[in-house]
Amino acid sequence: MITELKSVRDVWKKMPTQRHARLFLENAIWGDDRFCPHCGSLSSRPLCGASVRAGLYQCAEKECRSQFTVTTRTPLHATKLDLRIWIAAMFLVLTSSKGISSVVMSRILGVNQKTAWKLGHAIREMMDDRQSIAGRLSGVVEVDEAFVGGKPKFRHGVKNKRGRGTGKPIALVAAARNGQARAILLPNTQGRTMKPIMEDWIDPGSVLVTDKNPSYRKIGTSFANHHTVQHNKRQYANRKTGAHINTVEAVNAVVQRALIGVYHRLAQKHLQRYLDEIIWRWNHRAPETRVRTRKSASGRSSSETTIVWKPIPVVDQMRGLLCEAVGRQIRRTPSWGLRWP
Ligand SMILES: [Zn+2]
Repeated sequence: MITELKSVRDVWKKMPTQRHARLFLENAIWGDDRFCPHCGSLSSRPLCGASVRAGLYQCAEKECRSQFTVTTRTPLHATKLDLRIWIAAMFLVLTSSKGISSVVMSRILGVNQKTAWKLGHAIREMMDDRQSIAGRLSGVVEVDEAFVGGKPKFRHGVKNKRGRGTGKPIALVAAARNGQARAILLPNTQGRTMKPIMEDWIDPGSVLVTDKNPSYRKIGTSFANHHTVQHNKRQYANRKTGAHINTVEAVNAVVQRALIGVYHRLAQKHLQRYLDEIIWRWNHRAPETRVRTRKSASGRSSSETTIVWKPIPVVDQMRGLLCEAVGRQIRRTPSWGLRWP
């Protein structure tokens, strides 16, 4: 079983043939329980014979009897690419801390840019963590809105507005202090739009921290406690309660950097998927404690512990992606677009 991949080259080293790649995917998607992607039945048999392509199975359920492979009804459905290209593309998306553009990906994988673009979107389709099986956010949960969509064009003598009222797409971002986050694009920042989303995301026993936006006032009553900070008065931590929204601001900073630096030419209809990718990366980190010992001039030593959040191993992330892949099929349109059946 493959437990580690260190580089794109490693993919070909550890999977010398397409069959190895297929077995890797079968193990990640099905584990020990191969199931039919059409009806979910656990009973199926491999099809063999000279004219049958490798990795084809037939469902044994009387009403179904469908034939399937490991990629059926996943974003990899009916792919003509070498499966190792897919695995290498996943490696690139999961390990690039600020995301990877299709231009760069096409150069590394040796595929054309349109193919790389589609690979990227198919992989992002699996990164939607909004209905995470990990459950609701809990503990202290910070919520803020982010205005996404790049910097406005510089025009001489024109002072560009910031924040609300710029007409930029708005994302609602929630981040628990324990390392989990969620983000979704919003049509507006009205309380009645945000309330059901926040109630769905956040455990009612949590302590909510937001800025003073009045929309949050009523929503706050759905949770155990609600603290606020007044950002427009340059108050970044509430002196009385110690409340701050630094965690969610850190998530927003990552979003802004990725959208300006890497994905600067993106269409709004794909924005949610880029958000999903950034949040996925944020959610798949684990804390690492580091102790640093320092010696002062007088010879006295003191130690300082810091917590550094590191991405979890890439193969574990791939397994996490793939185990939710069935049912997330993407179809291509004749004009090189994407379509969701
Ligand atoms: Zn079936």
